[in-house]
Amino acid sequence: MAQLLILRALSNDFIDILGIHVPDSSLNSTVMQLSLLQQISNTVDAFIFSKDLQGNYTFVNESGLQLFQCPLNEIIGFNASHFYDEDSCININKTDQEVLRKAQKTTYEHTNCIKDTDKKRIYQTIKKPIFDDQGNVIGLCGVSTDITKEKHLQVILDEQKQLLHTVLDNVEAHVYMKNEDRRFLYVNSKVADSIGLPASEIVGQLETDLLAEKEAQEFHQNDREVFQKNKILRTKETVITTNGDELHYLTVKVPISINNERAIIGFSSDVTEIYRMKEQFKLLANTDYLTNLYNRRFFMEQGEREFSRAKRHQTPFAIISVDIDYFKKINDDFGHPAGDHVLKIVSQLLLKSIRKEDILARIGGEEFTIILPETTLENANTLAERTRECIQNEIIIYPKEIKLNVTVSMGVTLLKPEDKSFDDVLIRVDEALYEAKENGRNKVYYL
Ligand code: GH3
Ligand code: MG
Ligand code: MG
Repeated sequence: MAQLLILRALSNDFIDILGIHVPDSSLNSTVMQLSLLQQISNTVDAFIFSKDLQGNYTFVNESGLQLFQCPLNEIIGFNASHFYDEDSCININKTDQEVLRKAQKTTYEHTNCIKDTDKKRIYQTIKKPIFDDQGNVIGLCGVSTDITKEKHLQVILDEQKQLLHTVLDNVEAHVYMKNEDRRFLYVNSKVADSIGLPASEIVGQLETDLLAEKEAQEFHQNDREVFQKNKILRTKETVITTNGDELHYLTVKVPISINNERAIIGFSSDVTEIYRMKEQFKLLANTDYLTNLYNRRFFMEQGEREFSRAKRHQTPFAIISVDIDYFKKINDDFGHPAGDHVLKIVSQLLLKSIRKEDILARIGGEEFTIILPETTLENANTLAERTRECIQNEIIIYPKEIKLNVTVSMGVTLLKPEDKSFDDVLIRVDEALYEAKENGRNKVYYL
């Protein structure tokens, strides 16, 4: 009779717990029920047991025999203290009492250790009271599932997750995941900081709702390419923020699948500072330190380019060569700093006289050259003449009490059909300058 009551409680509950579907008809005969229970309980890995009101085992399944390492007759009638160590028993008895006293099911996680071994295992246990026909509690039954492995895996998983978060939140890159709808699936703290919201408030939102329109557009172009080609994209991204700052990123975007949804994971390193430095270096490499005009190196590069362009498109260009007259004398009479000052003033006067498309460079000590794209001889001569006059009329004061006056000689030439290289043009303009010098200086000569 007691067996039947246990059986009822077990079959109703455990079949449920174990997720096994049993047709009601198979529970009709007691024998069938018992045999079914036996079968079920032995096919599962979980430890299934029942106990009387004193906590003595009245039933254990095959797993129980293996757990306690003894035959059934050495288990039935014995309580937990016979098998488990002291700490485990405290927990077991406490929950047993709770189930019996409250006549309620309980589920809990606990660590048990079989006596005289140090094998600690973690279990998830469900305990339920057993009632007789009058509704009195006559014992309890339970299922303990060994979750040690899962628990350890969970610990490893949590540690790895923690590690990943630490790495992602401390790398010098913006890391983010977006789906095809442009919704953020993940952002690291660098992205969160630059958007100005906590990561939890960004995830789930559309980038179009969080970023400036142009910024979102620039990022989306590349995202779309990754989705279309389904290939890793390594690219540069430049965006103008709402406050007008230009930001440069080196970006890698990788197509991934997350929960069966297509997505991209992106890593963008802010290289704005490096970019600015590069630009600065480029500028310095092309600039003359004293006058801030372009230097010879940049002039030659631009000259070659202009020469090819003019040849290709049959567009004319003119060149003017400028050399300060008797400059050595200024150094000799007033000192090198006075000479430097004159060079700066002459540079400014030359700069004032040219158009923005013209290229003015200091190509030597007191020598300057101007490239004038798409310019006729007449215009070049007029400009040269006007500038020569302007310099001649300038009174340069250095230092306070000394008034200096300089003149320049100039050579002018145009690109000619017979010119094979930019050097041919340069040689001719130098010859023109030489002529100007030879013919008394403070003159403009054309060749
Ligand atoms: P010319 O009328 O024939 O051109 O005579 P010049 O004295 O101007 O020409 P020359 O080539 O004899 O002298 C150029 C001088 O420019 C010599 C050099 O010491 C000076 N010089 C070159 N670079 C600099 C500079 O950066 N600063 C100063 N102060 N002087 C320079
Ligand atoms: Mg010279
Ligand atoms: Mg000179």
